[in-house]
Amino acid sequence: MTDHYAVIGNPIKHSKSPLIHAEFARQTAQDLDYTAIEIPTDALQAGLETLRQQGFKGINVTVPFKEQVWQIVDHRTARAELAGAVNTVIFHEDGSLSGDTTDGVGLCRDLTENHQLILKNKRILLLGAGGAARGVIEPLLTLQPNEIFIANRTASKAEQLAEIFNHLGHVTGGGFAQVTGQYDVVINATAASLQGEVPPLPDQVLAAGACCYDMMYGKEDTAFIKWAKQHQAEKTLDGLGMLVEQAAEAFYLWRGVRPQTQAVIRLLRT
Ligand code: NDP
Repeated sequence: MTDHYAVIGNPIKHSKSPLIHAEFARQTAQDLDYTAIEIPTDALQAGLETLRQQGFKGINVTVPFKEQVWQIVDHRTARAELAGAVNTVIFHEDGSLSGDTTDGVGLCRDLTENHQLILKNKRILLLGAGGAARGVIEPLLTLQPNEIFIANRTASKAEQLAEIFNHLGHVTGGGFAQVTGQYDVVINATAASLQGEVPPLPDQVLAAGACCYDMMYGKEDTAFIKWAKQHQAEKTLDGLGMLVEQAAEAFYLWRGVRPQTQAVIRLLRT
């Protein structure tokens, strides 16, 4: 019998997740379908109940529901607990829901496996203090960087995030004006690229050999990637690999099979 999965969000029609999961299912010969479902922003609870009644086995969750789903699920993994957001839900047969987040592990796999970056003892500058930034801090700390500085337009949000995570490693935070010194890896987790903007960073912020990563992706270079190239970053990467890797981790949680991601990333780039 075909098992049903979906991604929920609003808006959702441009989601690449159905294509990604269809490829994973084909590749691993899993009998499942995966659709994109738009849920009205004021009807999340009812939407989840409908999916449960229809026998869905699991869902991915995207903007703007990740934090609300975190509150609704019956069980959360430790990494979801810290991230304050859920992007993957398992519907259990007893009707209960488990929530996990795979965004952080997706970013780390993209950096370390797809691009062979070593983060141990490196200085990381994380731009942004929204849901995407929060979800990647603990997974990044497991790679043992020297430090993470979180820089955000609203400085207090970065300071609060640093407070949450600084018992796990050297994490500090503040406004963009407080960014000093040079960083080996700069990760853009702000929504600035959506507006074609770049956070205001000092000109000398990139260390020799630095890598710049924009969580956003698209056909053309984002404003941040253009900025990174102008500032002689050695490597510039977009968030497409993270998207596919977080999907692969969700697929593994649901099906117990780990799909190959490289071919799917290549497919999405064409
Ligand atoms: P949120 O709305 O939770 O946070 C937005 C963040 O961006 C805040 O820190 C905000 O600062 C900052 N920001 C917004 N506009 C600007 C600007 N013009 N200049 C500087 N900072 C700005 O969004 P998310 O954290 O959910 O998502 C952030 C980005 O990450 C999005 O582009 C999203 O597409 C991408 N993403 C990619 C994923 C992937 O798989 N590749 C997964 C998840 C997210 P302030 O606090 O001051 O408002």
